Amino acid sequence: MDLSFGAEYEAFAEEVRAFLRKHKNDSISSSLNMAGSGEEAARMKKWQEILVENGYAARTIPSEYGGYGAEPDLLKTVIIDEEFRKAGISRGLSNQGISMFVPTLLQYGTEEQKQAYVGPTIRGDMIWCQGYSEPDAGSDLASLRTSAVLDGDEYVINGQKIWTSTAVEADMMFLLARTDPDAGKHAGISYLIVPMDRTGIEVRPLKTMLGTASFNEVFFEDVRIPRTNIVGEPGQGWEVGRATLVHERNMLGDTSQTENMLKRCVDVLRDYGALESPVFRDRLMRIEARVLAMKYHAMRLLTDRLKQRHPGVAGLITKLNGCQLNHDICALAVDAMGEFGVLKRDSKYVRDEGVWQSQYMFTLGLIIGGGTAQIQRNIIGEIGLGLPREPKGPERTA
Ligand SMILES: Cc1cc2nc3c(=O)[nH]c(=O)nc-3n(C[C@H](O)[C@H](O)[C@H](O)COP(=O)(O)OP(=O)(O)OC[C@H]3O[C@@H](n4cnc5c(N)ncnc54)[C@H](O)[C@@H]3O)c2cc1C
Repeated sequence: MDLSFGAEYEAFAEEVRAFLRKHKNDSISSSLNMAGSGEEAARMKKWQEILVENGYAARTIPSEYGGYGAEPDLLKTVIIDEEFRKAGISRGLSNQGISMFVPTLLQYGTEEQKQAYVGPTIRGDMIWCQGYSEPDAGSDLASLRTSAVLDGDEYVINGQKIWTSTAVEADMMFLLARTDPDAGKHAGISYLIVPMDRTGIEVRPLKTMLGTASFNEVFFEDVRIPRTNIVGEPGQGWEVGRATLVHERNMLGDTSQTENMLKRCVDVLRDYGALESPVFRDRLMRIEARVLAMKYHAMRLLTDRLKQRHPGVAGLITKLNGCQLNHDICALAVDAMGEFGVLKRDSKYVRDEGVWQSQYMFTLGLIIGGGTAQIQRNIIGEIGLGLPREPKGPERTA
């Protein structure tokens, strides 16, 4: 099996390496942390600008919306990922706005919406949060009850969302709300754009086991937004919202991030003497085998996309496998540190500012976020393997 990309693409890989050499001083190393704050965030925004300008971020987003405007070429995208990973350089900002909302908007949004939101989002000037889950609607998302009722030219929103990541700092939310209570469970939902500074929105932070409030409850009381803030048609929200979920699952199961994590994990094992231990070597070998399998699975999906074949449920395996693997890699690193593995960020003996300890807990959450592992398995079993569908519970009444 020939896994090389051919002469044209080898030349492109050299172009990427030259870019990385030229911008060595502006670039940001790919750390395990997914988000930064203060000075770190400002440096990341600057790096993002350089990446967009040179076509290494927002590469295929049309230039009229602020992207680079390159023709889609999946192999080039893979090569960029590879070269950045090998150099240990960050691929730039990745958040719910850039990775989930923008591709959805490009597919379903109006021209005005694309003009207004894509540019600021890809530059990191506009932060988005995802208003999907509710206290009684998580895995069974279509049970959501937050309502949006038309009143003249405005929707009036009432209800509550929960587990809303980054809602405190977000400028905007993409929201699933029930716009037609008389339509069927899935048919009455619409996908709305909500500025977070509207009167009637209250955000209450929720502290996680990390000790920080990375997600929130969001309450809506008579919140008014223009009726033009709908993406797609009224009642099309389930379809639009599912498109966003596909992008979310791709983001969460990103192979290059897992490979990067494994590379750093091996450094930890080496530094703490764990590579001398047959027990740790055995664990490492098993994880490396799974990472390799994930990489080749990603290449198979890439082939499907290049040949315009629908990957079916193979795409779902990426999120299921990737999120579990990321957590297992962090667990291996923390275990290899022995008693140092329980240190907190402020200890003088802690490694990498405690990032392994915090990622160990954060990655556990990502097995749940974006659709739990159990739900992914149900879908793979029912749609992929043709197993009988599980019995549905009774329909909820209001
Ligand atoms: C880190 C993190 C970030 C998140 N960020 C956001 C966000 O930004 N925006 C947002 O809207 N939501 C967010 N969520 C919420 C997330 O989408 C939900 O937690 C998830 O969909 C599960 O819903 P739930 O918590 O209500 O659990 P439930 O649906 O109540 O499930 C509880 C348990 O039952 C299992 N279960 C439920 N139904 C079935 C079934 N049919 N078969 C087998 N097992 C089942 C589940 O797998 C789970 O283990 C986030 C969650 C996490 C952990």
